[in-house]
Amino acid sequence: MSNLPYNSFNSYLRQKFGSIVWRITLEGGFDCPNRDGKRAYGGCTFCTADGSSSRAQSPEDSIAEQLIKGLEKHRERHKAKKFIAYLQSFTNTYGSVEHLKKIYDQAINHEDIIMLSIGTRPDCLPRETIELIETYTNKLEVWIDLGLQSIHNKTLKLINRAHTAEEFFVAIENIKKFAPNTKICAHMIAGLPEETLEDSFETGLALSKLPIDGLKIHNLCILKATKIAHDYEKGLIKALEMNDYIDLVIKILSIMPPNITIHRLMAESATDEELIAPEWANNKDAFLNVLRQKMQEQNINQGDKLLCVL
Ligand code: SF4
Repeated sequence: MSNLPYNSFNSYLRQKFGSIVWRITLEGGFDCPNRDGKRAYGGCTFCTADGSSSRAQSPEDSIAEQLIKGLEKHRERHKAKKFIAYLQSFTNTYGSVEHLKKIYDQAINHEDIIMLSIGTRPDCLPRETIELIETYTNKLEVWIDLGLQSIHNKTLKLINRAHTAEEFFVAIENIKKFAPNTKICAHMIAGLPEETLEDSFETGLALSKLPIDGLKIHNLCILKATKIAHDYEKGLIKALEMNDYIDLVIKILSIMPPNITIHRLMAESATDEELIAPEWANNKDAFLNVLRQKMQEQNINQGDKLLCVL
């Protein structure tokens, strides 16, 4: 672990690759079964029209063009030497094995790409797709970014997630079985509609007991032009206060095994223009400073309370 009170993914990257590693977000041109009717229409209630894209790239550009632009930008701006090809928006395993192979081959087609990261949903991981993903582990490190969001099926239904917690467990089991060298980063969201802080903690607790390698914890962000924004405007839901969210994150980190790398601790995709609430979500540095200070004051490190819950 670094000198941070948790096992940050950035520290892991620095230790493993010995230089600055930066994510290049790539638009693979995928759809989502939760939008096109295969599973549901309309998508998750918090998701934007562009599938929670970071908008770092133009979907009009080919993957090869996006890669070149991303490499140039981050080499210059962040002095990065090595890069992660990150397929983030929509569902990046939603397609035939042939099509997926074409996209993944293009995404890693540069010697400075040292990692492939594939964002997807639990219901979009058939065995042949998992086995395809595993083949890339011969060339570079591979992660599947797998969204759970909540362990509570009632919430998953409420946010129109169109998969269950049980499907997430099966996906984890299948990845471990058919892609033992592929790493898994699970995603959760705290503060979802009708959930208490205890409910969100239960999601973190469930994840702490699964064979995952990484974790992203997000606070619910209310973004413009999402379904959840209407509920927020009608006063039906509230955004979490920063201090409540920080206390929750500390509680989750304290029960998270130290080997699990922490990829994210707050939602980051929102721009100033599209964020409705909470206001604090646009100041990551301030959030991280308070979080780290509180962990230091309380003398809590990741995994400190692990034994108490197992
Ligand atoms: S699964 Fe992902 S891309 Fe699809 S609607 Fe939900 S958040 Fe958006």
